[in-house]
Amino acid sequence: MKIQEPANVLSLPPFETTAEEIRKSGEKLLAMSQELTKRIGSQNLADVTLESSLRAIDDLDFDEGQIFGRIYFLQNVHPDPDVREAAREVQVAFQAWCIERAYDEGLFKVTEAFAKKATGLGGEEKKLLEERLKDYRRLGMHLPEIERMELKRLQKKLSEIETHFSKNIQEYNDCLYATLDQLEGLEPSFIESLERDLEGRYRISLEYPEFLPVMEHAHDENLRRELFIKKNNTAAQENSKLLNEMLQLRQEIAERLGYQSWNHYVLEKRMAQTPEKVQAFLDHLESRLRAQADSELKKLQDLKIETTKDLQAEIHIWDYYFYSSLYKKQNFDVNSQTIKEYFPLNQVIDGMFELIRKLFGIKMEEQKAGSFYRWHEEVRLFKVVDESGEGLGYFYLDLHPREGKYNHAAAFGLIDGKQLHDGRYQRPVSAMVCNFPRPSKDRPSLIPHAEVETLFHEFGHILHGLLTRAKYAAFSGTSVAWDFVEAPSQVLENWIWDAEVLQSFARHYERNSDTLSKALIDKMNQARKSGSALFYLRQVALAKSDIEMHREGRDKDSIAISNKIISSVFLPLPQQTAFAAGWGHMTNYASGYYGYAWADVMAADLFSEFKKTGILDHATGRRLRQEIYEPGGSRDENESLKAFLRREPSDEAFFNELLGSA
Ligand SMILES: [Zn+2]
Repeated sequence: MKIQEPANVLSLPPFETTAEEIRKSGEKLLAMSQELTKRIGSQNLADVTLESSLRAIDDLDFDEGQIFGRIYFLQNVHPDPDVREAAREVQVAFQAWCIERAYDEGLFKVTEAFAKKATGLGGEEKKLLEERLKDYRRLGMHLPEIERMELKRLQKKLSEIETHFSKNIQEYNDCLYATLDQLEGLEPSFIESLERDLEGRYRISLEYPEFLPVMEHAHDENLRRELFIKKNNTAAQENSKLLNEMLQLRQEIAERLGYQSWNHYVLEKRMAQTPEKVQAFLDHLESRLRAQADSELKKLQDLKIETTKDLQAEIHIWDYYFYSSLYKKQNFDVNSQTIKEYFPLNQVIDGMFELIRKLFGIKMEEQKAGSFYRWHEEVRLFKVVDESGEGLGYFYLDLHPREGKYNHAAAFGLIDGKQLHDGRYQRPVSAMVCNFPRPSKDRPSLIPHAEVETLFHEFGHILHGLLTRAKYAAFSGTSVAWDFVEAPSQVLENWIWDAEVLQSFARHYERNSDTLSKALIDKMNQARKSGSALFYLRQVALAKSDIEMHREGRDKDSIAISNKIISSVFLPLPQQTAFAAGWGHMTNYASGYYGYAWADVMAADLFSEFKKTGILDHATGRRLRQEIYEPGGSRDENESLKAFLRREPSDEAFFNELLGSA
């Protein structure tokens, strides 16, 4: 007998279109959540079942997620400032309620009661129950009320200090004034864009669009040194103290919850699990990269000696960007302006969809304008359909910048995947938001290769969300451990460095038969590799500082710890700097910075399987889809990795890629 597959539910979010509608939805959201929380939490504990506990709470999360996800999204993309403001108000109110809900005694008791009864749970239910119980323990729900109150107070204090810390960085507003002579090496158009003071000197702010070009191109070493020191004194006075307080509070919270340190507390929820494992990972990375990094540094030093005619010249930390950039320019001059002409946006998107069709067996069907709601006329909608004909979900593309819109590239989830009570499956909906230039009258939108990479990366998150088959919303798509979530999207970046793939869609926007040459693609790859050991050594230095700061112990001096590690692992920091005081990651990435390199290692390992079978191999693509994208968080990430790799994970692919040839 053939078992009938349960049907999929494919629906689009019922978007609010006015501030008034947003407010109404916000009220509905709060009322619904409060009522259901009360109803689930007040049931008779003797009669608790899987349905009335775990599933009911997941249903609640799912229902909330649909409304809140939509409103949060509109806050980021809606052209009307009133709509965005109303959405922001809903967000603030709802998030405050979410904290209350997390500590809700009723839901906790119901979960606990079910845990006592539940024997022989397997699969997703077992994992869901374990994670719920773990989350309650991490909130201190097992502690006597008086201790719990104290914990809540400490958490609140920590979050206030973190907000203060971020605000100090955001509002810090130092700058440097330079004469025209000092700006030698910089593009005239860049210099023209700088503000000038009454004496005609140019003002360089510490913001990246001004800081980075000066660090990369200004010939004047003193200028670079001075700017570097200023940048690394961002919010130094106040934030050094605040960071020390944050470390102290985190240690205290961790101890009260029964953990040795903040590292232990954070890492228990990650793939890495323990600080020892992270430390070993970083030590290993450092030792494998050291020789290559030394030789890269030597090349930069030779270049400095040649440029300055000073035989004693050394590479200082403020020289790093300048000589790295000069070295690349001299050795593999890839002109990003010329390359851009081979990447008209729509051609890139079509090429990406075609690649994904070949790899994963899914096609994207664009929906006709007028058949769906758009918050802006440039928005496009696609239906994702499996080669069997099964509808898998929808995604929106919102590609160009406008006033008040989210100004980076990101994937937003709008509807989670989830198995419904009648056995049908709610397919997900998501949206990709980017800021590519608009086409002009005589030119299509042309995007640099680095942005093509961003596009593929973000689309990786979209796929991870849309292909999900997890039963519970809690595990849908990208709901995985934080140190895993980037790997499934990172891996997709690899295809755009391959000549065969690039030549399939990188055609000149005017001369259509002219594709990007193999020689140029080779050069792009060399440039990509150049300096990568030093790049990762810097990552290791930062990750080690982060871990060291969050080790057990009290009364730590955050600046002394981080300055010492960065100086010994990467390049010496000048005495009068306080990098960590301006390090925004120290709020929500605490004990987690290693995750960037960790994900890169996994992504390289995943991609290495395609190198064995051919990078367009459908079977390997299918396997990536089934073992990595579809399970989401429904099983342990290590299991997913092993299922795809059909072996133990390894870092060899990462090192081969990096150290294979200089
Ligand atoms: Zn990402």
